[in-house]
Amino acid sequence: MPTPVTSDFDADVAVIGLGAVGSSAAWQLTVRGLDVLGFELHEPGHALGGSTGRTRLFRVACLEHPGLAPIARRARALWRELEASAGTPLFMQTGGIMIGPPDSHLITGTLRTAAAHDLPVERLDAEEVARRFPGHARMDPGDVGVFDPEAGILRPEAAIVAAADAARAMGARLRTSTRVTAITPDADGVTIETDAASYRVRHVAVTAGPWIPRFVPGAPVVPHRVVMTWFRAKPGRSAALDVLPVFIRSVPGRDTWVWGHGAMPESAPGASDGFDAKVGPEFDGPFHADDPDAIDRVVHPGETDEIHDLVAATFPDLDPEPSDVTTCIMAHTPDNQFLVGPTAHPRVTVGGGCSGHSFKHAAALGELVAQAVAGEASALDTGFLDPRRFG
Ligand SMILES: Cc1cc2nc3c(=O)[nH]c(=O)nc-3n(C[C@H](O)[C@H](O)[C@H](O)COP(=O)(O)OP(=O)(O)OC[C@H]3O[C@@H](n4cnc5c(N)ncnc54)[C@H](O)[C@@H]3O)c2cc1C
Repeated sequence: MPTPVTSDFDADVAVIGLGAVGSSAAWQLTVRGLDVLGFELHEPGHALGGSTGRTRLFRVACLEHPGLAPIARRARALWRELEASAGTPLFMQTGGIMIGPPDSHLITGTLRTAAAHDLPVERLDAEEVARRFPGHARMDPGDVGVFDPEAGILRPEAAIVAAADAARAMGARLRTSTRVTAITPDADGVTIETDAASYRVRHVAVTAGPWIPRFVPGAPVVPHRVVMTWFRAKPGRSAALDVLPVFIRSVPGRDTWVWGHGAMPESAPGASDGFDAKVGPEFDGPFHADDPDAIDRVVHPGETDEIHDLVAATFPDLDPEPSDVTTCIMAHTPDNQFLVGPTAHPRVTVGGGCSGHSFKHAAALGELVAQAVAGEASALDTGFLDPRRFG
């Protein structure tokens, strides 16, 4: 644990960027008794970073890496804590289904993670998938399903606000609508320049999502613009969560996936804020780097043609014309895993590199950042997320 703040320093730790990971890191740093200064370009829960769009999928049987299952479970416990402190629903457990050819990474990766942690997944044949989840009845011959009962849906904007509020309640000073313009680490501490003032801190946690390379030169994070799309059921059909739960699934007749979830109308019991069904395409690199400060926020004609075709091919009950569209920023690393932990500079810790699947883990990633800053060992095995793995 670093020495407590003295008059030479404005805080023990500065957190740069209060999005999904940064708001949780600020909260978890204050839980450890550290004096925290947080900086955010906008207000927590804003729509201009990587965490906007009303919902995020949560899975425990993560096909991306077996090491992610314990991180997801730890994150879920922390999301539940935040829910209790905020008095706002943040996580809804719905179960989720992966559908694809038995030898696809979608299925083998999910089963590999499930086997590594003895997760209670169910293997389903096509008939069983169609019977239990009629919204997914259209499949290629030979496709199978794996049901993850721990999957569900998170509310990203509310979760970020809850984590920032929890940090504030424990004494963190959050400077919002403030742009950090530079960080300069040296042997004794770090100087933080903003558009309003200059600060001296012992340590910095860079959690600026798509903007990380601005503060950690050479960090292999490629920010890129993506379009998110929502859909409604055709008249007389249903796209509700019970027929179309959280999913990642192959598209019939195509060599690609879609991901998403069904709809929850505002009138549903327990729904404080409804949403339409959401479907997005597999994001398959290599990615062209976009300037995250200059993202084109307009969705242009033709940009939704591909997802229109994928929805029409996969979901006969959905109207393939999007009911809503928006833009968001994704930030990929070369191996599609996050960057969480110490950097080459001992006073700089990083947490980010979302690669399209980090929101579910963000509460735990914030905790890992706080543990790295505090010099605390983690109970989780996170070597595969070490930012120094790329040299
Ligand atoms: C379309 C889409 C779908 C996704 N779906 C899923 C999903 O279903 N499940 C899942 O688990 N994950 C999903 N993800 C990934 C996940 O949502 C993101 O990885 C995650 O929210 C990113 O969080 P972050 O904290 O790294 O970045 P952000 O939330 O973007 O936070 C970075 C913050 O830094 C701030 N900042 C930047 N520069 C400065 C500066 N100079 N000064 C001060 N502040 C600054 C920004 O304003 C921002 O608030 C998806 C991502 C996208 C884009």
